[in-house]
Amino acid sequence: MNLITKKIIEFSSKFIPVSKPVHIYYHDVTLDSGMSFMRINYKKIEEQFMYLSKNNYQTLLFSEQENDKLISQETIVISFDDGFVSNYEFVFPLALKYKIKFNIFLTLDYIGTQNYLTWDMINEMYQSGYVEFGAHTKSHIDSRKINDANFASEIINVNDSIHKNSKIKVDDFCFPFGMYNENILQYLDNKKVYRRLYTSDMVNRGSMNYSKIVGRIGIRDEDTLKDFERKVKGHYSSIYYFKRLRSFGNYHGI
Ligand SMILES: [Zn+2]
Repeated sequence: MNLITKKIIEFSSKFIPVSKPVHIYYHDVTLDSGMSFMRINYKKIEEQFMYLSKNNYQTLLFSEQENDKLISQETIVISFDDGFVSNYEFVFPLALKYKIKFNIFLTLDYIGTQNYLTWDMINEMYQSGYVEFGAHTKSHIDSRKINDANFASEIINVNDSIHKNSKIKVDDFCFPFGMYNENILQYLDNKKVYRRLYTSDMVNRGSMNYSKIVGRIGIRDEDTLKDFERKVKGHYSSIYYFKRLRSFGNYHGI
């Protein structure tokens, strides 16, 4: 993204309402070089956590979002997708150091496998009071393929399993690949499984009957600290706003 585009984003963001808190998301963290949305270098994430701490940002756990008293201009919600072991090895110590709370969306089949969190790590982080957890299906399936035949295995059993292994009640769900359609939104809403559904397109669509639909913006390895600052201030919501306009409202995911 060039400087002119960034300036346009910054300018147009003045006219597009940003719903608070702003949600940002990551995946894996590495000591080596990163890879766009999928993997971010350790030094960069430390720099970003330092920025949040220095600028008095308050970070919320999933369960704290409904407490309006906690929401201000400087409130953000951080989530990590998929449950990488780096979230425990690298992010958790940084979170304790900078007093930053974060949340992790777990894919059940990945837990305890190479490069992913174990139940012990999940429990230790949960008990610290700095980390909460949501669900990200059993097999990381595209949510548009969830129906009556696999709803129990991809959704219900995941929540039961997380509860059995960690006593965590799951109220938050993130669409793998950021992909969803009206059918799955209605389906999850009607079944009343989760209180909040998370997308990857930063379009806050308000509430359905039961669940709230929360937009998030991804942090990329190539983001500068200035890009990060724009993202946590919600300036990037204008990109998604224009993308949605361009696709007449059919735009989902990134
Ligand atoms: Zn994922």
